[in-house]
Amino acid sequence: MTLDDTIEKHFNRLGHTHKQALKKLNLVTIGDLLFHYPSRYESISDTKPIADLKKGDTAVLYGKIHSLKTKKAFRKKTPIAEGFIEDSTGKIKVIWFHQPYIAKMIENGSHVKLAGKVTGSETSLYLANPEIAVVSEIPLDTGDSLFKNNGDKQNKQMFYPVYPESRGITSRWFYHAIVKMFTNGILDSIEDFVPPAILKKYNLPTLKTALVWIHTPKKTADCMSARKRFAFEEVFFIQLAKQKERHEYEKKSSFKINVDRKKLENFTDRFPFKMTNAQQRAVDEILNDFKTPLPMSRLLEGDVGSGKTAVAASTVYSVTTTNPMGQDFGNLQTAYMVPTEILAKQHFESFISYFSHMPINIGLITSSGCKKFPSKVDPGGATDISRSQLLKWVENGEIPILIGTHALIQKSVKFENLAYVIIDEQHRFGTAQRQKLARKDNISPHLLSMTATPIPRTLALTIYGDLDLTLLDEMPPGRKPVITETVLQAGREKIYEKIRNELKSGRQMYVICPRIDEPDPKKELALNVKSVKEEAKRLKKDVFQEYEIEILHSKIKPKEKDEIMERFLKKEINILVATSVVEVGVNVPNATVIIIEGAERFGLAQLHQLRGRVLRSTHQSYCFVFADTKGSKTIERLKALQGAKNGFELAEFDLSNRGSGELYGRKQSGLSDIAMEAMKNIKMVEAARSEAQKLVAEDPDFKKHPQLQQEIKKREHSLHLE
Ligand code: ADP
Ligand code: MG
Repeated sequence: MTLDDTIEKHFNRLGHTHKQALKKLNLVTIGDLLFHYPSRYESISDTKPIADLKKGDTAVLYGKIHSLKTKKAFRKKTPIAEGFIEDSTGKIKVIWFHQPYIAKMIENGSHVKLAGKVTGSETSLYLANPEIAVVSEIPLDTGDSLFKNNGDKQNKQMFYPVYPESRGITSRWFYHAIVKMFTNGILDSIEDFVPPAILKKYNLPTLKTALVWIHTPKKTADCMSARKRFAFEEVFFIQLAKQKERHEYEKKSSFKINVDRKKLENFTDRFPFKMTNAQQRAVDEILNDFKTPLPMSRLLEGDVGSGKTAVAASTVYSVTTTNPMGQDFGNLQTAYMVPTEILAKQHFESFISYFSHMPINIGLITSSGCKKFPSKVDPGGATDISRSQLLKWVENGEIPILIGTHALIQKSVKFENLAYVIIDEQHRFGTAQRQKLARKDNISPHLLSMTATPIPRTLALTIYGDLDLTLLDEMPPGRKPVITETVLQAGREKIYEKIRNELKSGRQMYVICPRIDEPDPKKELALNVKSVKEEAKRLKKDVFQEYEIEILHSKIKPKEKDEIMERFLKKEINILVATSVVEVGVNVPNATVIIIEGAERFGLAQLHQLRGRVLRSTHQSYCFVFADTKGSKTIERLKALQGAKNGFELAEFDLSNRGSGELYGRKQSGLSDIAMEAMKNIKMVEAARSEAQKLVAEDPDFKKHPQLQQEIKKREHSLHLE
């Protein structure tokens, strides 16, 4: 048996459903199976077979439930649900007093786990009001205890690994398959690729031990330790790749930027506001990077409205006022890329207002046209110019600042002295697109990525491992906080009347829904949440007949999306019903109301970001959070939204209260569940990062670590295959 053998070769009695299930899980080889980890563990140490139950026991048991019905207990007329639970040793009656609905919630024939007290008389025992949970399978019955024959009676703690859900294949199958593989000596062929010194330093098990512990743990400490190792390993490999990338980037030199603080102060003094301390700090960090010979790679993370553009503009000033090397005239160039055309235009306008007092050309390039400031005929305004003309001026350096969309990264766009690349809303771009802009010529420009996506520090350090991090954790003063109200179903009508007053006085509104289309009623009963299309129809028909309503979602073409936003900006649309796509930083100051439907489905940080859409106005703004829930936990979470100072706080709140599954950014990150769990552990993430940094600095081509090198290749390869 080797890691590359197919599963079918060694498990030749696989049925059709098994094969389908394995295929769905993307498990082909023995190696795939070995590295397919349980998602959790169930303790089965206190489980009892039904035949052994005695009156007075507090028991946990697994079995199949049947004969469920509701009735009235005959003397007191108490409504009850009752049924029988059966395992291979016997059956016992179960009664729930005052909870008749349980009979309707659980289907006959389901596998369930029950925990409760055994009562009744010796001859007719029953379980009274047990807790019940439906499980996908029964972990053990007498005769077939997974751990029976290990002879370890002392060891009271027993674990049953539960593998990620899949129809057609049970956790028990996995368990036995793994045991068979272990027995066949599969572990003998395993070599650890993490340097032993690192394992030792952080007290992590070797790969072999970790595999045994993760699949067949005997105590909690073992499986925790194994999971820690695999999490570390994954984060470590990501960091290795990122640090290597950075190492390559830094091999090239960069432009040295002159930083004249006095002049810069004069420049920012013209802003119609005073920079916040956070903005000042961010500018300082960037300027410090500019002074070193290495190209900067920095991520600026700040809530919507925290003023990232002003930070960018201040640093662009220094770049623009620096002459190209060996010259005492001319300007170094900046490319500023944003995800949409409207945003590009908005930034073009802002930059004109920041730089118009200087003798500087600013260009705008999008797929629908190009502009240049200042215009020859009207020095105070911009003018349309042809693409070829613009490209010429960019190439000969006459346009030091070029703002644009994706159009900016086409081959035909060449710069004379590109010293600074700014990518706004960077999560909207793929890595490849980002790199295209950053990797021009043989000099690396300084790179500033900006994002409003509030993610916890651990996740940021991991996904953006190649970037240094700057947080803008302070909002400009004087903003009226958004009045946030959580509304459970009952309050709807009143809220609509409140909103009508806002609309009457000319304000506009966003309505955010979790889905685009109605779900297929036969397929997805559980996902009965509002959709953009239906909600827009309903609002038009029943609530806001007199207003113009439009929809916006990810399936609409980019060009149309831009047109819709443009019309919203021009107030031709009063109400925009959208999915969370409106996160993108388009500034519509007149939109002061946002309704978020199905709010329980969004992470807090994301809700906060959506709310940021209405933060830009001098008018009072409102956020109404509609939630279809009575759960006290959800209500508590939504309350946190009302008091939060910034998005990072909320991202951390979600990480510690709901777990990594709720994290915004999870999808983009491509991390496994195990690595996501590790995001709660800042020490581990920092350790993986600093070890990777050290290793890449000492041995950038991994020559001293052949196993590591091989594994990196393997992982790169599997990434490219996706
Ligand atoms: P974001 O971080 O979302 O990109 P912007 O840069 O678009 O935010 O800034 C949002 C608004 O706040 C803009 O209208 C900008 O002029 C204003 N602004 C930026 N910095 C400050 C400040 N220090 N004080 C007051 N207003 C500011
Ligand atoms: Mg912005």
